Amino acid sequence: MRTFLVTGGAGFIGSAVVRELIENTGHCVVNVDKLTYAGNLESLSSVESSDRYHFVQADIGDAEAMRATFEAHQPDVVMHLAAESHVDRSIDGPAEFIQTNVVGTTVLLEAARTYWQGLQASNPEKAAGFRFHHISTDEVYGDLEGTDDLFTETTPYAPSSPYSASKASSDHLVRAWQRTYGLPTLITNCSNNYGPYHFPEKLIPLMILNALAGKALPVYGDGQQVRDWLYVEDHARALIKVASEGQVGETYNIGGHNEKANIEVVRTLCALLEERVPDKPAGVARYEDLITFVADRPGHDVRYAIDASKIERELGWTPAETFESGMGKTVDWYLANREWWQRVQDGSYRGERLGVLT
Ligand code: NAD
Repeated sequence: MRTFLVTGGAGFIGSAVVRELIENTGHCVVNVDKLTYAGNLESLSSVESSDRYHFVQADIGDAEAMRATFEAHQPDVVMHLAAESHVDRSIDGPAEFIQTNVVGTTVLLEAARTYWQGLQASNPEKAAGFRFHHISTDEVYGDLEGTDDLFTETTPYAPSSPYSASKASSDHLVRAWQRTYGLPTLITNCSNNYGPYHFPEKLIPLMILNALAGKALPVYGDGQQVRDWLYVEDHARALIKVASEGQVGETYNIGGHNEKANIEVVRTLCALLEERVPDKPAGVARYEDLITFVADRPGHDVRYAIDASKIERELGWTPAETFESGMGKTVDWYLANREWWQRVQDGSYRGERLGVLT
């Protein structure tokens, strides 16, 4: 039994990692999350009563809070997922992305380094097993427009948005802390995730919920932007494998072998909803009729595609879900968990939480 300090554990992917660690391993989890708009403790209701689960509300940019958290919980593994993660928000307001993703990651690295160097003196065996796993995105590699190329672990960085530039910066910092100080780090770069508990501002949940409400399904530009989609629980299992078995200093790309154009994703969702919810809102003949093309996002990358052969070969990870099975599960989850997303939509997921805290 080891202690995993997971940052951003109340977010979309972080909560999947926490649920996987509590439900399917014997490890302890310390979830460190600031609870921004993207943090939702209701995504952890299935595990919050476990005596192996602890929650610390803190900002990764708060050096004293990070020092105290390492001191109190003595983690064996750090899985760093806390970030500002939404590209559109980074275009509207980049400063918060630099603060959390770049400055916050630096503060966390320093807290981890101080703690790990202390362990080297007090508990060399624990220090030797310590890992700092930084979770990043394939967006750091930029755009593959007009090529059949795949992103590999050695593809040069060429980020396009304030979000991907801030994530690229944090990846460089993590590598520097490994090369300069010997901190035992690992990095993963993953493609687009989808699945349960995804915040409704992101493409897939937005389309499901808008379609159910009979609202327009806004698709950027011509909808031909290609992403490689991975079911979030497959990503969570890959991350735990890398944190537990990966080689220190290495980077692993994670992807789902599911290159799809955005418009294809939206049409797939419409078809799934036709089967499951044929009784549509008034005035809607077919869900597809709700598709509306809107002005493209500035700097929008056209194609991302991952070569995930390294993690498959070296760590034996492959995704369990196909695009079809994962999308079906996702639509079913949103249909069965209306309370979760309605409380996000009406803001009560934040109001009630604040009520509990005060
Ligand atoms: P998310 O936005 O759903 O969750 C982020 C979490 O971090 C939230 O719980 C939020 O409260 C917390 N957080 C934000 N700022 C914080 C701070 N300063 N201190 C402490 N906590 C803070 O994000 P996600 O989609 O779950 O992504 C998690 C990580 O995975 C991110 O680092 C992201 O870059 C990376 N990633 C995401 C995807 C994807 O498709 N969503 C793909 C590849 C990589």
